[in-house]
Formats: sequence, structure tokens, C-alpha cells
Amino acid sequence: MEFIDLKSQYQASRDLINGRIQAVLDHGHYIMGPEVAELEERLARYTGASHCITVASGTEALLIALMALGVGRGDEVITTPFTFIATAEAIVLLGATPVFVDIDPVTCNIAPGLIEEKITARTRAIIPVSLYGQPADMDEINAIALRHGLTVIEDAAQSFGATYRGRRSCNLSRIGCTSFFPSKPLGCYGDGGALFTSDDTLAKAMREIRVHGQSKRYVHSRIGVGGRMDTLQCAILLAKLELFDWELQQRQRAASAYDTLLLGKDAQVRPVGRQADRTSVHAQYTVIVEQRGALQAALHRAGIPTAVHYPLPIHRQPAYAALSAADACPISVEMAGKVMSLPMGPYLSTSSAQQVAAALLDAADVTRRHPEPVTLPE
Ligand SMILES: *Cc1c(COP(=O)(O)O)cnc(C)c1O
Repeated sequence: MEFIDLKSQYQASRDLINGRIQAVLDHGHYIMGPEVAELEERLARYTGASHCITVASGTEALLIALMALGVGRGDEVITTPFTFIATAEAIVLLGATPVFVDIDPVTCNIAPGLIEEKITARTRAIIPVSLYGQPADMDEINAIALRHGLTVIEDAAQSFGATYRGRRSCNLSRIGCTSFFPSKPLGCYGDGGALFTSDDTLAKAMREIRVHGQSKRYVHSRIGVGGRMDTLQCAILLAKLELFDWELQQRQRAASAYDTLLLGKDAQVRPVGRQADRTSVHAQYTVIVEQRGALQAALHRAGIPTAVHYPLPIHRQPAYAALSAADACPISVEMAGKVMSLPMGPYLSTSSAQQVAAALLDAADVTRRHPEPVTLPE
């Protein structure tokens, strides 16, 4: 069993993808070719945002968003420590300080009720992460930002396609950032990402920063980066978009199968909670468990791959600990020791989900009766 089955996905769209790639090879505009604007137009329309700016990766999107806001040395940016490192990395690269706010123990998204006490005169922005594909509490976070004159940047790297109170992720705050890393819900075949905004001034700034701060050819009106997304990757996404809504339905089917099999079945296996006013695209299907090492080992023996997103919160990472000594975030620390993601994706069959759930519940039962520590195989 694959953790995320990208091969079946390619087979499902093979002709469309090959055709789109061939078209780029034929016209030869490898950088900023026509597929770039075509994709940006399609994605903007999909999310409802006025502007989409494709960039080299999700990390680059976060960096460009913060650069467009002028975030730099001495500034503070509030975010969650329970995320992929890139969320905080972009802040630190600009000389600003990440201020970590703990998460909700049910959804694992940033806890809005803990944000306001961390706002200081230096705070410039808030970066909630829509973790595992489920939007964060964006209305509450936007309301806090409005009261304090801050910008909210949604890190929607895992949630492209999700909805929140009738709107799409990436279009839930002033700026949305997403990633097209191959294993993300909408993935290309290399690195890619995008920024979304309905603010014309910010969009212009982000477009310029993407290409070395260039306002006209060889006129650099601001400091920028080399942050373009390749035409070939945009072409691949245009092909993959044809099946994207169907794939979201399939992700929902697989998640519902897991829900039916796991919810309320074992006190030691608790799926991450989901909220009724939003949909998740299930970038991961993650459960909160006791004795994770033993469960992972048992599933591994049964031929079932698992992953941990994420085993160490950012404020405990060696390179980041000194930056954030004041941020304890005990729930993030606890969840880092308990979360486990199961095989997931549009091509995960219902019978595979049944096999995973049965093996998991069985392993939980065994470890309850024999709670000695088991070491994880390499
Ligand atoms: C994947 C991811 C990123 C970074 O995206 P890349 O395209 O890999 O640079 C940022 N934040 C989160 C939450 C992610 O999952």
C-alpha cells in the first residue's frame, strides 16, 4: 500500500498530462509561457480571489507574502508551532520573529482565543495554517487582525480546494498561500506554489517580487527573488485540474470510510476533529493515538505505511528554540507525540481503508493488553 498513490493519479490523467507537457515542449516558452497566465486565471476563478500569482513553491509564496507586506527586522509574526517548518522559516529569513500560539487539541489548528494575548506593538501579521486540509478559524482570526491593524496570511499549503462558510481556502483572508508539492491535494510534478489576494496593490507588489522586484525589464523598483513557477509545472496542473473536483469527492469518500470505521471505536484512537461549517480536503487523515511507536511498528509489519505530521513542534526545533523561549505551547508538544497520519488520497480504495482501520484497531487492542515499549524498525 502507498501512503499517497501518485502513480494511480498519473494513470488517471495520463493523456491529458502528456498532451499538456508536449504542448509546452512544442512552443518552447519554458519560463512565463502562456500556461502560467492560464493557470493563474483558472485558480483565481476557482478560489474567488481577484488575483493568483504562481510562484516557485509554497515556501516562496509565504516569503513573498511577507516581503510584500514589508515585514523585516524587529517585526513579530504570530503563527502556530504545529506545522511544517516553512511557515516559520519564511518569517525568520526576513529577520522577523515568529511568535508561537498554541493549537486547539481537537482540530490541531491555531487556537484563536490564545492569539490576542501575544499581540504587541511589533506584531505585523498572523499566519494561521489550515492543517491537514481543514481551514483554520479564519473569521475569528480576521476579526482579531482587524481590531489590531494586522494582515492575515492563510498558509493553505494543505487546504487548496477546502471550503469555509461557503468560501474557498486561499480566499479567506487578505493573502492566501498554497503549495503544489507533488503530494499536496493539488500537486504538480516538482515544486510550485501560489499566492492569492483581492488587493490590487499587494498583487502588483507580489508579482514584481516574484521576478527580482522588476517593474519593467531591468528596472528593479524593489528587492525581490527568483520565484517563478515553471511553465511545465503550470501545464501539468492545468491537466490535473480537470479531475480535481472528482478527486476531492474521492478524498471525501476515503475520509468518510475511515470516519465510519474509527470514530468512537477505541478511546486510544481519536481522529483529528472536523468542524461542520467547513470542509477538509484531507491532505492527511490523521489520528491522535496513545503508544504511537508501537502502533506504527504494528502497521509497518502489516505493510501499511504511516507518517507523523509533525514529530517536533517548531519552537522545540534546534534552530528555532532560542528564538521562541517564551512560547511553551503545551498542546502542540503533546500532539507532536501523538499524531499519526494514515494512507490517504483519492485513489485509496474503500477496502484499503478498511484494511488500515482493522489493523490499527487491532494494534491498539494489542498494545493496551501489552503496553511495553516497542522500537520502530528503520
Ligand atoms: C508543504 C507546506 C509548505 C511548503 O510548501 P513547499 O511547496 O514544499 O515549499 C508550507 N506550509 C505547510 C503547512 C506545508 O504543508
